[in-house]
Amino acid sequence: MRRVCLRAVSTVYDYIVVGAGSSGAALAARLSEDADRSVLLLEAGPDYATTEATPHDLRYAHRVSVVDHDWGFTANATPDREVYYPRGRVLGGSSAVNGTLAIRGTPEDFDEWAALGNEGWSWEECLPFFRRLEHDLDASGDFHGTSGPLPIVRWRADEMRPLGKAFIDVCREFGFPYAEDFNDPEATGISPMAQNRTADTRISTAMAYLEPIRNRLNLSIRGGCLVNRVLLEDGRVTGVEVDSGGERQTVRGRNVMLSAGAIMSPPILVRSGIGAREDVEAVGATLVRELPGVGRNLIDHPLCSVVWRSKPGVSVMPDPPVQTMLRYTANGGETNDMQIYMVNHFPGREGNFALLPILQRPKSRGRLHFESAAPDAQPRIELNFFSDEGGDDVRRLREGMQLSLRMGEHPAIAQYAEALRTPSSEVLGDDAALDAYIRANGSHNYHPVGTAKMGPASDPEAVVDAQCQVHGVEGLRVVDASVMPTIVRANTNLTCIMIGERVAELVVGGR
Ligand SMILES: Cc1cc2nc3c(=O)[nH]c(=O)nc-3n(C[C@H](O)[C@H](O)[C@H](O)COP(=O)(O)OP(=O)(O)OC[C@H]3O[C@@H](n4cnc5c(N)ncnc54)[C@H](O)[C@@H]3O)c2cc1C
Repeated sequence: MRRVCLRAVSTVYDYIVVGAGSSGAALAARLSEDADRSVLLLEAGPDYATTEATPHDLRYAHRVSVVDHDWGFTANATPDREVYYPRGRVLGGSSAVNGTLAIRGTPEDFDEWAALGNEGWSWEECLPFFRRLEHDLDASGDFHGTSGPLPIVRWRADEMRPLGKAFIDVCREFGFPYAEDFNDPEATGISPMAQNRTADTRISTAMAYLEPIRNRLNLSIRGGCLVNRVLLEDGRVTGVEVDSGGERQTVRGRNVMLSAGAIMSPPILVRSGIGAREDVEAVGATLVRELPGVGRNLIDHPLCSVVWRSKPGVSVMPDPPVQTMLRYTANGGETNDMQIYMVNHFPGREGNFALLPILQRPKSRGRLHFESAAPDAQPRIELNFFSDEGGDDVRRLREGMQLSLRMGEHPAIAQYAEALRTPSSEVLGDDAALDAYIRANGSHNYHPVGTAKMGPASDPEAVVDAQCQVHGVEGLRVVDASVMPTIVRANTNLTCIMIGERVAELVVGGR
């Protein structure tokens, strides 16, 4: 890569959106609805323009696809333990590689964002955008949309594999209610999983939002464009610097929207001189705006599974890996602060099934460290799991694993097991040993958020305001998972798409 700016594009775009993932694709599609607005969407990964041209692994809904279209990152789950940390690198971003589980955050999540000083983000104010993004094929009424771009479908009883069926029965016997629809704001208990797919095809935001509008002459979509930094003059955005086709180029824009995700938006800010002074200096940039919250407040959902070896023929491809999920409240926890999935099998490792508890309201916080000026270098990712004072995170996960064991021992599920694999029953029966096991084996759910959090200027860790504008920098917004001040009690894809929809409306409405 030549490092000098060889080419400066003279067009001035109204909006440059960086990253065509869950938030960025939705944002660019909505902004370009008005033909008077010119929008340039820049994506580091390849652009497959149609569903037919999209490789099979990106289309197949029942297996996460983290081989050819992945950034290849690693993270430290705990200070001394590294884990793989996939992120999609393709048009559609992580929505193009993910598990397609389509669950909204709960009303309490968004009301908390509003209570933290983010006007316009309460549940009531976010609901219209959850409705706008979806075409729910099963549910309608006040809480659902039936004409949005993203199809949502739930598993029918006749499609349920034996372990999914058994899990529903066992949850009911354990006293959990049956919920038809997890995207109903009141829902808790056991439910068939909602997914964004049609039959076996994963519907990414590239397919849902961008494919139908490629004819728009005011929208330019460019794959293979790696954004290095935002260009600024007198505290105002003037464009971006991009590596494209082996050349470093500049493109001018009146507004820049960073939608590169919770791991890659913060390093773009830091390379542009926006962040903590020591971070900006560490990558050799000049400080433009000191915002110490950039890269802090990293949150993901910690998890740890109980695994059984299954009887022959039970845990096999092409069965879907996950069809059912339990949502419940931990002892002393907050509403719906836990999930447990029945994992019918692990793709690539058939012959095992698992109950997988996932903590939805972790108290631990991690951070990113910025050590390289290279635009494709990952920041060092420190998840800092189980570091909360009082150990409430590990305690709730331990109780979730012990509940999983009791459920797995119920004859309705146990009939499919040959033996318990991990952890051993001795470890599961000993609180201290199980806590140590979780600290040594607990991992993440691919859900990083919070690294450029939304909040009022009075909050020293806030990076963007309630319009997602970077504090103190005109014309620059962050619009992706980074802006969530707290993590939602749900898989994060739908909320990221909602953020793209919501901010487009704020922009169009002139706020
Ligand atoms: C393997 C996996 C499984 C998951 N499963 C689920 C699930 O089943 N359900 C669910 O709800 N959530 C799931 N998630 C999480 C969910 O997909 C993400 O939270 C969501 O997609 C994040 O959206 P985003 O817009 O913040 O970032 P992304 O969708 O990751 O988009 C960021 C985009 O920016 C691009 N980019 C990054 N840096 C640059 C740069 N410098 N220049 C140009 N482009 C750049 C990236 O290539 C990417 O396309 C999963 C995630 C993964 C990785």
